[in-house]
Amino acid sequence: MTRRQTAPRPGHDDAARAEELSLRFAEVYGYAPDGVWRAPGRVNLIGEHTDYNDGFVLPFAIDRSAMVAVRLRRGAAQGAGQGPAGHDVVDLASTWAPDGSDLVRDRFRMPGLAPGAVSGWGAYPAGVVHVLAGLDGVAVPGFELLLDSTVPVGAGLSSSHAVEVATIVALDDLLDLGLGRPEMARLTQRAENEFVGVPTGIMDQSASLRGRAGAALFLDCRTQEAELVPLPVAEQGLTVLVIDTRVAHSHSDGGYGARRASCAHGAAALGAASLRDVPEQSDLTGLDEETARRVRHVLSENRRVLQTVERLRAGDVAGIGELLVASHTSLRDDYEVSCPELDLAVDAALAAGAVGARMTGGGFGGSAIALVPATRAEHVRNAVAEAFAAAGRRAPDVFAVVPGEGAGRAR
Ligand code: ADP
Ligand code: MG
Repeated sequence: MTRRQTAPRPGHDDAARAEELSLRFAEVYGYAPDGVWRAPGRVNLIGEHTDYNDGFVLPFAIDRSAMVAVRLRRGAAQGAGQGPAGHDVVDLASTWAPDGSDLVRDRFRMPGLAPGAVSGWGAYPAGVVHVLAGLDGVAVPGFELLLDSTVPVGAGLSSSHAVEVATIVALDDLLDLGLGRPEMARLTQRAENEFVGVPTGIMDQSASLRGRAGAALFLDCRTQEAELVPLPVAEQGLTVLVIDTRVAHSHSDGGYGARRASCAHGAAALGAASLRDVPEQSDLTGLDEETARRVRHVLSENRRVLQTVERLRAGDVAGIGELLVASHTSLRDDYEVSCPELDLAVDAALAAGAVGARMTGGGFGGSAIALVPATRAEHVRNAVAEAFAAAGRRAPDVFAVVPGEGAGRAR
């Protein structure tokens, strides 16, 4: 399955993007937006498939983001600017148009907004509206929204959460809701779980909402307690490369749900509420072979997150490389969520001098990350491209990311 690319233009910084989006909004809707908000995608450094097991994750927000320009519809009582559509209508448009057209558009009305009422990409912003409208004392008026994102879709960098988070920070601001960041993370998780119908955990939204430049977010998915851990990649002469295999991953394929079910089954068989409560040394011989391997991944991955955090606290970025590699091996062999392209990306990057590499995101496609000496970045990029060509596979998209700032107002 091919995917449309969303590469940012060189030299096109957030301020310029926000201004351009504002102008585009005026072209599309006929007047200026109330503002522009941005929400980054994320890379998960380590801690894969631990989030829904109440475990530990260590993602960071990246310098690619979804931006939304939004304008609230003013109700008839206020008079000003009410469009012909009526004040309870939400109009959506995105520059991401897989059919090659200029814009993709959607529209829904607030009354009767329930799961199933909006499908496709519009379900992500609509899901956010749905959960906000369900809060005590919150009335969400109609609005117009224009979305533009540089987070590649389906690459495992969480383009979907970037859309949800951009929407919720915009509405929180415009409606003066005063929601806290952990609360917005929970609400967007509910939007995705209940409205879009994808059973994702809390990690992606948290990274987008709570990430900070130059840091990774050490998050306890059980308590939502978080600590920013310094990630001085460039300062230590390193670069994080994303290798987008351009193989579309999909949560709906059943593999993700099956892994979740295995974990729930394993925890129950071990008499624990969740795998978070199971020590790594536990006797797994009572489990069937497959469940035991799934459980072993989660238990060892939680430990690897803690070890990674320790090394980063000690200022040793290169020292996490071996943990990234061990994570990939565990995901490939015990959890079985890798795929030939991800394995190839990791192997080729390591052979070309990466200090660590692993698949990132849910798996079955999407992206790998490689931690590489900055001076070797170009060499690793070329070596990966050559390895894919030699294997007769479509060229991956390889690009550097830096730990960027979390979501907020852009204009
Ligand atoms: P990812 O790993 O990128 O989050 P998902 O399959 O979870 O992959 O989410 C991708 C979906 O999110 C797209 O199919 C689309 O519905 C929505 N989406 C992401 N970015 C955009 C965008 N720029 N415009 C419209 N929809 C988007
Ligand atoms: Mg997603």
